[in-house]
Amino acid sequence: MRIGILALQGAFLEHRQSLEKLGVENIYVKTKEDLDHIDGIILPGGESTAMGKLLRELKILEKLKRMIEEGLPVFGTCSGMILLAKNLYNDKTCHLGTMDIEVRRNAYGRQLGSFSYLGDFNGIENKIKMVFIRAPYVETVGEGVNILAKVNGKIVAVRERNMLATAFHPELTDDLSLHKYFLNMVK
Ligand code: GLN
Repeated sequence: MRIGILALQGAFLEHRQSLEKLGVENIYVKTKEDLDHIDGIILPGGESTAMGKLLRELKILEKLKRMIEEGLPVFGTCSGMILLAKNLYNDKTCHLGTMDIEVRRNAYGRQLGSFSYLGDFNGIENKIKMVFIRAPYVETVGEGVNILAKVNGKIVAVRERNMLATAFHPELTDDLSLHKYFLNMVK
């Protein structure tokens, strides 16, 4: 099993460190050719507008979208969740648009720009430390989407078939449970 980490911008190094702790082979995805050698992909946090622009310029967007629609397992964290969303609240932009969710960017405003929370995650026994950095949350989900975690009533983790998305950053903590959860989707 080889996992790709989209490495155009943002926190891709931290995802690599998490995968290496789990002994999982991984490559950075920087071109559309890199997509030919992976069994699953992680879309890291960062800045979704910049990432979307690079995905288009490098012609990765359409191919990746098709691969996800055909079943490639994908795990989007923070910006990655924004890239996956079919709709963005108050914003006409759509990037990959494969996941039936509506996402609000920078949803916690300036005051609560960054915070962490110890919360429950459906399907993982221990509590998860959730680190939020200028994070989005999910406003609404379509029928096929499972809600996996909520913080203060707001949806912060979802799964739809081969797609997993969290508004928070598991790669910035020592807890590897979310990466393990994703790897089980890839197996
Ligand atoms: N605010 C960023 C965006 O809109 C996401 C922040 C993050 O990935 N930590 O893309």
